[in-house]
Amino acid sequence: MNISPWIFLGVLAIGARLAAGLTPEESKIAALVDTEQARFAADLEAAVRIDSATENLAGVRRLSDDFGRQLTELGFAYRFAELPAATGRAGHLVAERKGTKGKRVLLIGHLDTVYPGGDFRREGDIVHGSGVNDMKGGNVVLIAALRALHAAGALADTQIIVVMTGDEEAVGHPVEVTRRELFDAAARSEVALAFESAVGRTGTVARRGSASWALEVQGITGHSSGIFSAAMGSGAAFELARILQGFHDQLRPLDGLTISPALVVAGVEAELSRTDGKVSGKTNIIPQRALAQGDLRTVSAEQLAEAQARMLAVTKQNLPRTSAKLAFSERYPAMPPTPANYALLAQLDQASRDLGLGEITAYDPRARGAGDIAFVSPPLPGLDGLGLDGKGAHTRNESADLRLAPELVKRAAVLIYRLTR
Ligand SMILES: [Zn+2]
Repeated sequence: MNISPWIFLGVLAIGARLAAGLTPEESKIAALVDTEQARFAADLEAAVRIDSATENLAGVRRLSDDFGRQLTELGFAYRFAELPAATGRAGHLVAERKGTKGKRVLLIGHLDTVYPGGDFRREGDIVHGSGVNDMKGGNVVLIAALRALHAAGALADTQIIVVMTGDEEAVGHPVEVTRRELFDAAARSEVALAFESAVGRTGTVARRGSASWALEVQGITGHSSGIFSAAMGSGAAFELARILQGFHDQLRPLDGLTISPALVVAGVEAELSRTDGKVSGKTNIIPQRALAQGDLRTVSAEQLAEAQARMLAVTKQNLPRTSAKLAFSERYPAMPPTPANYALLAQLDQASRDLGLGEITAYDPRARGAGDIAFVSPPLPGLDGLGLDGKGAHTRNESADLRLAPELVKRAAVLIYRLTR
């Protein structure tokens, strides 16, 4: 009983200190986010009701035009940057407002979803549907933050480009063509923020890159009793096993790297595609052909180069009468955890504390998969994970939690505000 006044005073003191962290204009921006809260759910529902799976080119375009209209109301010049038909991808939303105040900011989203969508369901504060968190929710966070800034008059004279790609979930090739708009936007920007799903109160300072590799081993075939002889050598299967063991031993010490030989076949005849394989032979014959395919995830371009060099060195030390070829194809570059990215995270953390919303820490730099921001960061300082929190991304059971939306929008709005002063 006699300590409660002290608790009360303590709460008051903390409240005053937190409120003092925001300027009057920032407080106004935060208040505007609260008044727009009802609109957030409606905007998300409208976006999710448009089916925009990567392959649905018309749907991607329609969603882009919807978001484009909203951005036009905020003073952005919008266009749909169509991709050549040969890429099999629709294109991207590009919206820009020109100005000279503060830093030139690039905001990144994506329009497409892994699974076809169109269905939206709400149970209390939890919403379900394809893309609710990955990442239509993030796109709506992005636009809601800009809307609050616009309503507060804080967008005047700022230089901001919004790019929402239409093929993040299955990037079109070649990337020099399908990511040209993103590269161009980055060349005119100083900092990149991406709105892929939030993970609790963390920011994403790094994303691993991914590459595919394919190994092809050739040996000499004949009666199994001749194996190990000078004429027959060791056979393709032992050579393949040696190489895979070598990859394991050479790459395992590299921090944050993973490699998985996902498909393996060996026999007299062997074939492998990305999803299945064929093999034939007999137990009394030396196999002459062995194949393996897998992926390789690395934390930086340097680590990828180091891993590739080690793998090639292993591949060359062939067992008697065998030979091996190794090929790579890069899918997504890595976004390494640079000091510049950590500095951006510190700004988000400060904005969050000043809003009274608690601390923001770095999400495990090894844990996050590939994403579009890695195409521009480096060279730009980058921060990802500013979108909506949820569950089941890349599954048919995707959900998002609307209760978290106001704080995510406020944090993003205050961060953009501070970057553009
Ligand atoms: Zn995504």
